[in-house]
Amino acid sequence: MPLLNIQTVLSQRPRGLVFDIDGTLSPIAPTPEEARLYPGVVTLLQQASERANVAIMTGRAIDDGARMVNVDGLTYIGNHGLEWSDGLPWLHPVHMVQEALAYVEPGKQLLDLAEDGLAGVPGIIVQRKSVGGSIHYRLAPDPEEARQRILSLLEEPARKVNMRLGEGKQVVEVKAPLAVNKGYALRQFVQRLGLHATIFAGDDRTDFDAVVEISRLRKDGIAALSIVVQHADTLPELLEHADIVVQGVEGMVDLLRQMVARHL
Ligand SMILES: [Mg+2]
Repeated sequence: MPLLNIQTVLSQRPRGLVFDIDGTLSPIAPTPEEARLYPGVVTLLQQASERANVAIMTGRAIDDGARMVNVDGLTYIGNHGLEWSDGLPWLHPVHMVQEALAYVEPGKQLLDLAEDGLAGVPGIIVQRKSVGGSIHYRLAPDPEEARQRILSLLEEPARKVNMRLGEGKQVVEVKAPLAVNKGYALRQFVQRLGLHATIFAGDDRTDFDAVVEISRLRKDGIAALSIVVQHADTLPELLEHADIVVQGVEGMVDLLRQMVARHL
């Protein structure tokens, strides 16, 4: 019974809740700008943050992710763990992982190249971040062709400046070649606050590192549980490693509502 497990985990103190945004707390929208939190989520996060340490962990730039949530008093972790802030990033200092600083400039160059080289391709959205950025092709008339064009434009230049290309749902990510990911960031969050319990929820490829980290934390004696939000195209390995699977953002929000009402 999943709820019994959640109850056991959330009976520990101090406890943390860590959420991805897109596809977890907000339905996937045609463009990143159009995405909104599911109704009721802001209130639930506010209530949860009065009784637990709540973090929002996103692949979006930290300001971009925090703007969607806009609740002070949460920890915001952006760009898959590269930047974090205790509270809204425009009210509190933003820290960048030290090793990432060297990749700010090469990332900017690759994003310039993407904007120039893909200007004629319809449906491409380039999102810059403090390090690297995202190139979305969800709106391209032929998404697979758009994906190929992005990859063939950027693969060689990225290799030359020692940056990585990663892929998510209809998006190519330009990333620093660092072992910083959502799993690393999750562990940092737990250690920094000395948490005895933590729950992580996510839905996509980049959440896999955090889902795996949850089982490592459990081996280290932390009461830890992972929730995977299932969509039509969810990766099988995410579902295999999940402790709890919920159906869609609606299922996630139902579970969050139960957690806040019964276990926090
Ligand atoms: Mg997501």
